[in-house]
Order: sequence, then C-alpha cells, then structure tokens
Amino acid sequence: MEEALYQENGGRIIKHNPPAAALSSEEMDAIYALPFARAPHPRYAGKRIPAWEQIHKSITSHRACYGGCNFCAIATHQGRHIQSRSEASITLEASKIDGVISDLGGPTANMYKSYCKLGFPASCKRRSCIFPSICPNLKSDHDAQLKLLDRVSRLPNVKHVFIASGIRHDMALGHKRYISAIATKYTGGRLKLAPEHSADSVLKLMGKPSIKSFEAFSKEYFEEVRKAGIKRQIIPYIIIGHPGTTIADAIALKNWLRENHIRVEQVQEFTPTPMTISTCMYYTGRDFDSGLPIHIPSPSEIRNKKN
Ligand code: SF4
Repeated sequence: MEEALYQENGGRIIKHNPPAAALSSEEMDAIYALPFARAPHPRYAGKRIPAWEQIHKSITSHRACYGGCNFCAIATHQGRHIQSRSEASITLEASKIDGVISDLGGPTANMYKSYCKLGFPASCKRRSCIFPSICPNLKSDHDAQLKLLDRVSRLPNVKHVFIASGIRHDMALGHKRYISAIATKYTGGRLKLAPEHSADSVLKLMGKPSIKSFEAFSKEYFEEVRKAGIKRQIIPYIIIGHPGTTIADAIALKNWLRENHIRVEQVQEFTPTPMTISTCMYYTGRDFDSGLPIHIPSPSEIRNKKN
C-alpha cells in the first residue's frame, strides 16, 4: 500500500492521498451492477452535452494503468494495479445498449485483464511496467480483450463495437491477431495512438517508448489493412512544450510528420498536471532522473512553434 504524502504550502499542510486500494473483479462487477441511470444529471435537461454524446454508449472494462507516462495523473488516482470487470458483467451492460458501442476500454484499452505475476508489489520501485522495457513479470497477451470484444460484438442488439480508448502500441507489437482485429473490426476507420512526440530525448523525459515502436506498429497495422483491402488511418496524439523540448526537437517533429505524410488532428500543449513527474520537471527545470538542468519551453516559444 502506497503511503500518503504531506506537503507544506502557504502555512498549511496538504495531504496527498495514495490511490484507493485495488478492487477485485467481483467488487468491480458489484459497482457496475448498481442501477445507474445512464443519463445526464437532470440539471442539464434540454441542454446539449458534447461529452455525453461521446460517452453515452461507451463501456468501462477496467481501471488503472501501469504505463507510467510522466505527464499523466491516472496512476495517482486509480493506481497501476489493473482492475478488470468480468466478461459476464460487461456483456450484461452491453446487452442494454442498442446499435454501436462507441468505446469498450479503460485508461489503456489493451491492459484489460493483464496483471503482474508478483501482484504489483509495493516493493517494486519501477514507475512503469512497460518503460523503458516490458517487465518480464507482466502478464499481458491481448487474448482476454479479443475474447471479450468477440462476445460483445455477437450480441443481437450490438451492430458494432469499437475501441476509442488509447492502445499502447508498444505492447501490441508483434501480436498479429490483435492488430488485425483492431484494424478490420474494432476501430471506426481511424485508430488513435499516442506517440506524443518523435524526438527520443523528449520521449525519454515523457516516459514514452521510442518513435521506432510507433513506426513498427504502423507498419504491422497497415500490412493488415492492405491484406483486408480496406481503408484505415492512424491519428497520432502529440504533446508540444513538454519539459526538455527544444526548438530543434519541435522542428524535428514537424519534419517527421511531413516525411511520414501524417496529418495531426490534435496537438496538445503541455499542461502541468498536479502530482506528475513532468510537472515536477516543469517547476524545477531539471530532469527527474538525472537531476541535470533541462530546457523549459516558454509560452511565447510554444506560440511560435505552432506557427
Ligand atoms: S514487478 Fe514488473 S510487472 Fe510487477 S509491478 Fe513491478 S514492474 Fe510491474
């Protein structure tokens, strides 16, 4: 069990609670069996809620993430111990949704039912189970997610089931059956992936794998697309202005996008989210691991990069 942190601030003490203890599959099922209204709060009556349109036909299959991206706060809220619902619980929920299920996933879709052979021990000092390399104690084979998707897609009321949650492409590399299923059945034409940048020095500071793994995944994905004779796109998420990014890195990113004929839809400017390692680097101006000074992009620099 992780411990709480206490921080002095403005003459007061702030307590940062650790993530809640991991729930068992039975406990997760019990929560999702509660009689949720599956409707917006009545105070929004008559108002259009864009987020609702996006999520009202989505299903949560699991919680938590062991990816350990330095800019992300999910693990500080939900922990890294994956807590998965049973297939039966998810199928029951899906049986009440007609038509297209827009997303069946969690913080990282392809972590469903994966686990640490040692039970995610508190004694493990790694921040990520998959960066800089996949830990040999991690059990993750994608079969459980494929079985779940297949079962849900066979329900008579379900026309299609898609994955709109993020997929860790480095974990999926080499899993041909999974990549083929994602390409041909479970994405609505556009797969969203998060390489986040192309410069290895920036990716290392983000705790993300080298851009080579994104390129290798794209190659495998489009091979499956070609074999199936269909049209598909990969839409990459990009973060600009992450601590440690220089103008040279930003230009390298632009060139990489051009060379690979990639059109980005969303570029996110780095936001210093509380409790993340990236935020610590943003405020201290230092690499979290080495302690060495790093470049912190200024707002005016970011504005210029966008132009
Ligand atoms: S031992 Fe490996 S799989 Fe288990 S929590 Fe640590 S890094 Fe993750």
